[in-house]
Amino acid sequence: MKLQQLYTDLILEYNKDKTNKRNIEKPTIKEHGHNPSCGDDIDVEVKVENGVVTDLAYTGSGCAISQASTAMMAELLRDRDIKEARRLCELFLSMIRGDVTDDEKLEELEAATTLKDISKMPVRVKCATLGWHTLSIALEKIMAQLQEK
Ligand SMILES: [Zn+2]
Repeated sequence: MKLQQLYTDLILEYNKDKTNKRNIEKPTIKEHGHNPSCGDDIDVEVKVENGVVTDLAYTGSGCAISQASTAMMAELLRDRDIKEARRLCELFLSMIRGDVTDDEKLEELEAATTLKDISKMPVRVKCATLGWHTLSIALEKIMAQLQEK
C-alpha cells in the first residue's frame, strides 16, 4: 500500500479543520504526547464535569495523520462519559493493531474508521495512535483522582 493512498480527502480535511485544535478554558487535565519516530507533538486538553468529557481539544504540531486522527478523536469523544470515551479509545487502538477488523463493530468510531488501513503501515501506527494514547493516559489520571475523593 502506498502512503499517498492514506491521505484521503477526509484526512486532509480534518488536518486543516481547526474546530478541535485549540486551547480549552480551565481544562481538568492537559497531557503531552510525543512520537519521536515522526516528530509529532501533541497536547491533549480535557475538561471533565460530573464524569462527562464536556470539552476536548488539542494543540501541537505533526504530520497530517497525527493531526487528523486527534481531531477525529476530539470530535467523537466530546460529550461522552469517561468510561465510554475510554472504551472507544480502546476500540480505536484495537483497530489500528488489527485486532478488530469487523466494519460493523468499528462503525461507532465514525470518521476515525478511515484510519483503519494504517494497521497495514507500521511506520504510521504511532502517528495515528498518538492522540488516543495521550487521551487514555489523561482519562486514567482523572479516574484515579475521582476515586481518591
Ligand atoms: Zn506522524
